Amino acid sequence: MSVNQQAHTGPPYGQPQPGYQGYQQPAYGGQSLPGVPQAQYGAYNGPVPGYQQPVPPQGSLRAPPTSGAPPPASGASHPSGHLAYSQFEHGDVQNGIPASAAPMQRPPASQPFLPGSAPTPVSQIPTFQQYGAPPASVQQLRNHMAGMTIGGTAASAPPPAGLGYGVGPSSYPPTTGAPRPPAMPGPPLPGQTVAGPPSSQPNHVSSPPPPSTMAGLHPGPPMSGLHGPPPPTHPPQPGYQMQQNGSFGQMRGPPPNYGGAYPGAPNYGSPPGPPPPPKRLDPDSIPSPIQVIEDDRNNRGSEPFVTGVRGQVPPLVTTNFLVKDQGNASPRYIRCTSYNIPCTSDMAKQSQVPLAAVIKPLAALPPEETVPYLVDHGESGPVRCNRCKAYMCPFMQFIEGGRRFQCCFCSCVTEVPPHYFQHLDHTGKRVDFYDRPELSLGSYEFLATVDYCKNNKFPSPPAFIFMIDVSYNAVKSGLVRLICEELKSLLDYLPREGNMEESAIRVGFVTYNKVLHFYNVKSSLAQPQMMVVSDVADMFVPLLDGFLVNVNESRTVIASLLDQIPEMFADTRETETVFAPVIQAGLEALKAAECAGKLFIFHTSLPIAEAPGKLKNRDDRKLINTDKEKTLFQPQTSFYNNLAKDCVAQGCCVDLFLFPNQYLDVATLGVVPYQTGGSIFKYAYFQLETDQYRFLNDLRRDVQKEVGFDAVMRVRTSTGIRATDFFGAFYMSNTTDVEMAGLDCDKTITVEFKHDDKLSEDSGALLQCALLYTSCAGQRRLRIHNLSLNCCTQLADLYRNCETDTLINYLAKYAYRGVLSSPVKTVRDALINQCAQILACYRKNCASPSSAGQLILPECMKLLPVYLNCVLKSDVLQPGPEVTTDDRAYVRQLVTSMDVAETNVFFYPRLLPLTKADVDSDSLPAAIRNSEERLSKGDIYLLENGLNIFVWVGVNVQQGLIQNLFGVSSFSQISNALSTLPVLENPFSKKVRSIVDMLQGQRSRYMKLIIVKQEDKLEMLFKHFLVEDKSLSGGASYVDFLCHMHKEIRQLLS
Ligand SMILES: [Zn+2]
Repeated sequence: MSVNQQAHTGPPYGQPQPGYQGYQQPAYGGQSLPGVPQAQYGAYNGPVPGYQQPVPPQGSLRAPPTSGAPPPASGASHPSGHLAYSQFEHGDVQNGIPASAAPMQRPPASQPFLPGSAPTPVSQIPTFQQYGAPPASVQQLRNHMAGMTIGGTAASAPPPAGLGYGVGPSSYPPTTGAPRPPAMPGPPLPGQTVAGPPSSQPNHVSSPPPPSTMAGLHPGPPMSGLHGPPPPTHPPQPGYQMQQNGSFGQMRGPPPNYGGAYPGAPNYGSPPGPPPPPKRLDPDSIPSPIQVIEDDRNNRGSEPFVTGVRGQVPPLVTTNFLVKDQGNASPRYIRCTSYNIPCTSDMAKQSQVPLAAVIKPLAALPPEETVPYLVDHGESGPVRCNRCKAYMCPFMQFIEGGRRFQCCFCSCVTEVPPHYFQHLDHTGKRVDFYDRPELSLGSYEFLATVDYCKNNKFPSPPAFIFMIDVSYNAVKSGLVRLICEELKSLLDYLPREGNMEESAIRVGFVTYNKVLHFYNVKSSLAQPQMMVVSDVADMFVPLLDGFLVNVNESRTVIASLLDQIPEMFADTRETETVFAPVIQAGLEALKAAECAGKLFIFHTSLPIAEAPGKLKNRDDRKLINTDKEKTLFQPQTSFYNNLAKDCVAQGCCVDLFLFPNQYLDVATLGVVPYQTGGSIFKYAYFQLETDQYRFLNDLRRDVQKEVGFDAVMRVRTSTGIRATDFFGAFYMSNTTDVEMAGLDCDKTITVEFKHDDKLSEDSGALLQCALLYTSCAGQRRLRIHNLSLNCCTQLADLYRNCETDTLINYLAKYAYRGVLSSPVKTVRDALINQCAQILACYRKNCASPSSAGQLILPECMKLLPVYLNCVLKSDVLQPGPEVTTDDRAYVRQLVTSMDVAETNVFFYPRLLPLTKADVDSDSLPAAIRNSEERLSKGDIYLLENGLNIFVWVGVNVQQGLIQNLFGVSSFSQISNALSTLPVLENPFSKKVRSIVDMLQGQRSRYMKLIIVKQEDKLEMLFKHFLVEDKSLSGGASYVDFLCHMHKEIRQLLS
């Protein structure tokens, strides 16, 4: 197989494209393969957008039936002129169903999409049994833990060795790439008494043992056409079966103290209703996230997920699986709340299930999967529908012997350009079907022509500008020196395209406090030159030549500068900073250089110095739970919104690293990063010893990761639905185009769809996400993702094909945006009400008749209540006393760009019993549910949520284990100021550290490690993440919340 030597062509199928994702390159050393030419491109002439497309007409035309997908052609000959892909292996895709979206009936007999242990969808009927009051020990511990903050710790632990950034691809696995834990053969709670209460909780009322029969099982609706697979072979799981026994509402009458179980009850806002359901629900009898995750791993983790079938629900994000693209985009790029959407808007409204797609256009893939091929159609550019401008994709229908094609989105018929003509085989399929990614794959890229560039000029390579706060706090904490030291080596790892020997990205440097200092680091200089701009009211860039430079050419001067900066400001007394002028300076520099780029701003304090964008301290915790609480999330001035708009127009993306010792108004400072597609990182009470490792890891990854610039995303849909709402870090100047100055591989955009016409079961529904962006080498590209969904006339089909993790991702983003404009209580009530309606609709229309007192949950949504409760209890919607206003603003923005895997672990953290880990295997110990009563005093646990890793140590842990993990001889000697685990040469220490490293590698941010000793003051912080328990801030326990949801549902049904 020979690789075509033309520039801009992809390698043959079956091979990953080399090094296309900058940080996945196997080595950072020079590579000698020919690079992509860049000199051919001119520069921008200004911010005039060149990506303007007419809004597709909607509503009048129906998509054509696209059934009858012909079988794959093989052995066909190709005309000359399509050499670029003629070497593709056919075998790789021949066995799939190509994309033409024949209306797939229910999935094939193997039904891999049905998670859970039930062979057919079975409604789970949790049993109301007994639950006790919160254990007394909880209350006791909580009493003396007020006022702790994470950042207040100080320690001097040595950083672990061997984790420099010169690491191979394995250090950046995909977020779903966790090795699967072993199957859980026994009870899911090692070391824990499942049936009875822990001995430390004397007030706990024991649950009666669950009945062992299935007498109470109420199956879901009969599912026509379903022939279920044989029951899964894995053994019955305790704690899961039990929920199928008994039923709600047939218990012992209202409990005397039911109301006492709801500290947050006033927030629910529900009208007085029928008597509350009986109390005493056994936590083991209600749906368990751990069990659902484990079942999906067992059922779906072994086979690749092949995307050839329309409307297939992918495995859960917590399952490690490989994806084979056979015509639909990988779930790593797009996940939907449902893969079978109602045909009419009436049905959709009735169900209240939001129709949304969570899209991560530049997602990183595991090494085993192929990055999208780059298709080059030369000067003519990509083939598109004449009317709606959809890009050529597997769902387009070729007609008239291949001379024209009918658009799958708007039905318009378009001539095939002569250079693109190809004959059809006897089934109507183009004979070059398998040679063209855009005809056979769900995801691919087109090389954009000059028409897709600003001002009709090819872009220049982007630039990175490092802008360092050198005020007193930044210098004194050692931060300035740390950054400068790091940059000396980090600059060698700027993103590179493909096989290029060096990065095309130019770099520049600015320092600032009340004034700005620009540096000339031109390669011909012996020493860098500083130019001070003290008139920050009207920012300009004092030098053009020598500000943005090539790292290799100016290596000596840059090194000298980075050596000098810490010295120059070592004795500074300046405590005040400006902020907006810093962004303006970066923006002006990029404008002058006629390129896009990214500003890396390292900032420490509220910008109170006299300057545009000056802020005042307006933090006021008294506003919490008032109608004015929303102002805490709003920027205090519109100045930054306008600045963000200018930045987006230039392709100036801002990444902000914050090191606050007090309130610095993240809600306002975050506006520009947020609207330009950038990131915010926050290190409260930054201390060199404890926090440098985390910060440096974040910085290294942020600088190296794949990023596209000057990006515009448009989502097209087939007739009947359209994209109506968008969530994420971006800017929109019209109702359809999502603009991002920068878009990196971690950023997610969530899109909501609404009906504007009827859909048909035959045609299904199609999405096409097109992202136009500039690569790190300045190449203009289009990345296309296509996805076909089923449509249904029966609500049961909708509920059977939902994805709760994605639903929660959408609901959280919806709620987190809602707090900007509505009181938090209103937002919470709306969330509860919507979910109650979703579940009530299922109960009414899909579940088989049964006692009105029973709670019946759809199989695919049985975790909706527990996950929803986690969203309701989150810091944004129900802050505890230790959560600052800046924390809430920070988290609110973070969540808005999270993918489904990230929201999943963020809202329901992963809790692993470390002392149950098998030191001889690579696997993780089986996770347990997030509740204090699952913890044993004799064990050590790890809890991670994507931002933090807690290591919790029980008071009765064996001394040997403590010695092995912490290197001290007793529990009392463990320092909870450790920020890393000591490196000790024993199997347990190695195992735990490897688990921590693995988890760190899976997340997009380096998590803060916090050691928590049982009954220590920090334990309060840890308990905040035991999300099945009642929270200190008034959040309901899972059991209580399920009762509450049941009540809400019954009210809706009555
Ligand atoms: Zn069209």
